[in-house]
Amino acid sequence: MGVLKRYGAQLPISNKTPDVNLEEGSTPLVRLDRIGNDLGVELWAKLEGCNPSGSFKDRGMVLAVAKALEDGARALVCASTGNTSASAAAYAAHVGVPCYVLLPSGKVAMGKLAQALIYGAKVIAVDGNFDQALELAREAAERLDFAMVNSVNQYRLISQKTGAWEICESLGRAPDLHVIPVGNAGNISAYWAGYKDFRAWRKISGLPRMIGFQAEGAAPLATGRPFPNPETIATAIRIGNPVSGELAKNAVSESGGEFGTVSDDEILEAQVILAGKGGVFAEPASCATLAGLIKLKRANRLPDGAKVVIVLTGNGLKDPDTALSQVGKPVRIGSSIGELLEALSL
Ligand SMILES: *Cc1c(COP(=O)(O)O)cnc(C)c1O
Repeated sequence: MGVLKRYGAQLPISNKTPDVNLEEGSTPLVRLDRIGNDLGVELWAKLEGCNPSGSFKDRGMVLAVAKALEDGARALVCASTGNTSASAAAYAAHVGVPCYVLLPSGKVAMGKLAQALIYGAKVIAVDGNFDQALELAREAAERLDFAMVNSVNQYRLISQKTGAWEICESLGRAPDLHVIPVGNAGNISAYWAGYKDFRAWRKISGLPRMIGFQAEGAAPLATGRPFPNPETIATAIRIGNPVSGELAKNAVSESGGEFGTVSDDEILEAQVILAGKGGVFAEPASCATLAGLIKLKRANRLPDGAKVVIVLTGNGLKDPDTALSQVGKPVRIGSSIGELLEALSL
């Protein structure tokens, strides 16, 4: 069941809203005991990489696109570090409207670029960073009357709240800690709003502490200073000037949470642990969550036995180059059983 069907009664849709559905949402919440035991917590991972275009962006895109169609938009436009464009392009193809995506040139993971192109979007590589591409997209949308489907689009954040609703339904309560990577800071804001909704509906009593991790080279919220030239291997959170920064600060302070930073090396180490001890392959930005938990554990700041949810925002297959740079090469042999047995005994 897609997000608009599962949560239609809680979302701003009417009988005039087209029924858009790629069966997004309802993603697995998986308990990772091997990793959780090492950290001394009950660890759960929300696998947002299982969405149809491979990231959580689909949760918000489905409503943004339905509303754009309802309003008679001629086309969709977005700026993207990759996953927004993949998602927008997928929904545009599904409903049959043109889609234009602006990408910071040379800084987009290969899988995401392949997605935007194969879904048939017009891809424009901007010689600049994400923040500059966003400004351009905004202006073009205004002049040409296209629907802008970046997270400045209010419907995206509203519909992304469904992630928190699903977690509460699965656990029967809110977690103690909600840990999430932060780029433009829309998702952390949406999850916080979603948890508060669920409490207001009296379906749960408590609320989680919201812990947002940024990469050291792109950490405006964690450090309180701007990053005009953000740099990190985690391209999905390579953002210097977060669109939803104020909402995110509010989520963190209201919940008694915090922002933290992790280095690229810590992110890559966490990616290998998630895959090798969890059986879950997530893209680098997503792995900032586990990297951050490991850092908190080392600083003796992770409460023993806490129920912790990490949001694994995107699928590892989106960025195979980064993963391959972390692991060994396959063992090569000829076609004899002798060589195989020798290789197996290594
Ligand atoms: C978009 C994205 C993020 C960042 O989410 P924000 O809402 O911009 O903070 C993190 N991880 C992945 C995989 C993403 O695609």
